[in-house]
Amino acid sequence: MEPLGRTRALLIPGLIVIVVTVVMSIVIAQAMNPNIGLGVVGAGLVCLVWIVMVAPGGLLARERRAVAALAQSERRYRTLVQTAQDLIWSVDASGEWTFVNDAARAIYGLEPETVIGTTLMERAEDGKGEGDAQMLIRAMRGEPCIGQVRRHRRADGSLVDLAFNAAALRDSDGNVIGATGTASDITERIRTERELERSEAQLRLVTDALPVLISYVDSERVIRFANRQHADWLRRPAGSIAGRPIDEVLDEETLDEAAEHIDAALAGEHVSFTRTFEHPTLGLRHLRVDLEPHIVTQPWADPGAAGFVALITDETERLKMETELRHVQMMEAVGQLASGVAHDFNNLLTAMFSQIAVARVRLGSNHGAAEVIEELELTAQQARGVAKFLLSLGRKGSADRTHVELLNLVTRAGQMLRRVLPSSINLDIQSDAGGKVWVYADSVQLQQALLNLALNARDAMPSGGTLTVIVSTEPAPDEHRNPSALLSVADTGHGMEPEVLAHIFEPFFTTKPKGQGTGLGLSIIRGIIEEHGGTITARSIIGRGSEFTVRLPTVKPPQELTPDSEHASNSGERPTVVLASNNRHIREILATALAGERFSVTQVSNAEDLVRRVREGLTRVHGVVVDLGPVPGASSIADLRRSGWLGPVLLVTDGHTPETDPCTRPLHKPFAVTTLLSAVREMMSTPQGRGGLP
Ligand code: ADP
Repeated sequence: MEPLGRTRALLIPGLIVIVVTVVMSIVIAQAMNPNIGLGVVGAGLVCLVWIVMVAPGGLLARERRAVAALAQSERRYRTLVQTAQDLIWSVDASGEWTFVNDAARAIYGLEPETVIGTTLMERAEDGKGEGDAQMLIRAMRGEPCIGQVRRHRRADGSLVDLAFNAAALRDSDGNVIGATGTASDITERIRTERELERSEAQLRLVTDALPVLISYVDSERVIRFANRQHADWLRRPAGSIAGRPIDEVLDEETLDEAAEHIDAALAGEHVSFTRTFEHPTLGLRHLRVDLEPHIVTQPWADPGAAGFVALITDETERLKMETELRHVQMMEAVGQLASGVAHDFNNLLTAMFSQIAVARVRLGSNHGAAEVIEELELTAQQARGVAKFLLSLGRKGSADRTHVELLNLVTRAGQMLRRVLPSSINLDIQSDAGGKVWVYADSVQLQQALLNLALNARDAMPSGGTLTVIVSTEPAPDEHRNPSALLSVADTGHGMEPEVLAHIFEPFFTTKPKGQGTGLGLSIIRGIIEEHGGTITARSIIGRGSEFTVRLPTVKPPQELTPDSEHASNSGERPTVVLASNNRHIREILATALAGERFSVTQVSNAEDLVRRVREGLTRVHGVVVDLGPVPGASSIADLRRSGWLGPVLLVTDGHTPETDPCTRPLHKPFAVTTLLSAVREMMSTPQGRGGLP
């Protein structure tokens, strides 16, 4: 009922009651005492006049004021409702909108009148709105529905995220007749939140990928952020550190050491310091710590830093690398010096080998000095080994490979090993191969490897023991591969702990006292073996000894190609070799040696002659040996190839092998005549050499 009508309805019966009361009072008073009754009648009449004439006017005026105030308040609320940014709504029990404010325009792009009559569920993203219906049911049941996020569709089809607050709507009797509430557009907030989440995830990805421990500590000394490396370092699950005070996370010793630096960083100073730390699983680590203060410059901010970023870099590997690099540089300098010496040494040795070959030819094998010459050659060969070792220090020595019979090599090396091993060590050389084992290898490098293994074994047996070297073979894993040659070197020394065994092939790893070990021996050996297409493994038992096993691919025995054998039978002529050397002395010696093996030799002294002679006798030449000065270079080979010669070439080099083609093989100076001959035979055993034709 309208407030004005209600006032009027109360006014009439009220007046009647008052008038009746006054009239009754006058009648009773008149009956009891006419004198007093007259006065009372007068007063009653005055009251009556006031009641009838004045009171209703006053009452009506108050009523009008109340009605005006009510209308004003209603207008105020209506304005508030209509101008609110949020959607203010009500629905009936079926979910049909019964009221929406003007915010419907901004939120749904629809006029409020067009919304009313449709259902709240229809606005849902999927058009079904099961979740929305659930929300209304809960609200109508009187359950709390605050901040329910629903995704609705606008009139233009775009989506809007709304946070609903809903409550039951009741009639005047308290019966639930629907629901009412508000809905705020949070699309932008959700987009921003998602954007923030995405950029946080990206930041985490980047910081987790960095090989640095990163954390952020606020002014209350609470860790607000720590990347995965930091969590791993502290051996805690990722994400378990953020939000915890620094004093809970760091151990006491670290806190003591870092306390003063943390205070300085929180006071706004950039702090940088190094620290050595014994990590429970990683061992001794060298850390560099940088604390970068986070200064907030806004005028309202407290002076000092709002926190600091801690960057901790594990520099252990870098320091180790630096040390190794210095070592390598030193070794390289030594190597350069050594290879310079080796170069001169090689030239002298080449001349010596040549002289030995000349002496042997001139004196004949029956001469009394033949044995001396033999000894001389053996000594020169050992000197050649020394030169090769010097060259390998400078990493300039390249493999000079030929067919090598492994047991023969081990037996020859055994003589040398007996000289370096003390008498307390018994050397036992055995063969389980049941025949010859051929590998294609640089015999000097293999001997060097064997020597190194034996020296390590000697160091592992200070009070003596047995060093057993066994040559054997291992069947090929499949029919496409050759069997492997096995060279086992076993000692009865002190053995190695598994932690040592795991690192022995690393360069510069040594357990020997300073000055006694470089830690390079096994890494060089592994390099040599791998260059030969093989492997080296080790096993060890503490107190029982160690065993190193070298595996190398075997090759077929070399073919003994002489004019009397294959070539003679194939072509009926002596194989022809063109020998090019600008050193007359060497040329003659090589020619003599080759002629001694019944090769037909054509000598030339320069590259032009070489090309001309090869071109002239193209169909008759079977191989070319080139020794054209200190740097024979690929150019003479290239000229040769351009002339049409595509057959095998033996390139005599001084340690450095230029880039050539697959039909060109190097022969490193100095070499014994026998090495030259086997290299020439090797060259002739190739298909090109056997055919003799390009
Ligand atoms: P170095 O001999 O200069 O230390 P190596 O590379 O030859 O360098 O060897 C590395 C380490 O491997 C040695 O310091 C030693 O600890 C271990 N080692 C090698 N051979 C043996 C062995 N036969 N017995 C026990 N330990 C060995």
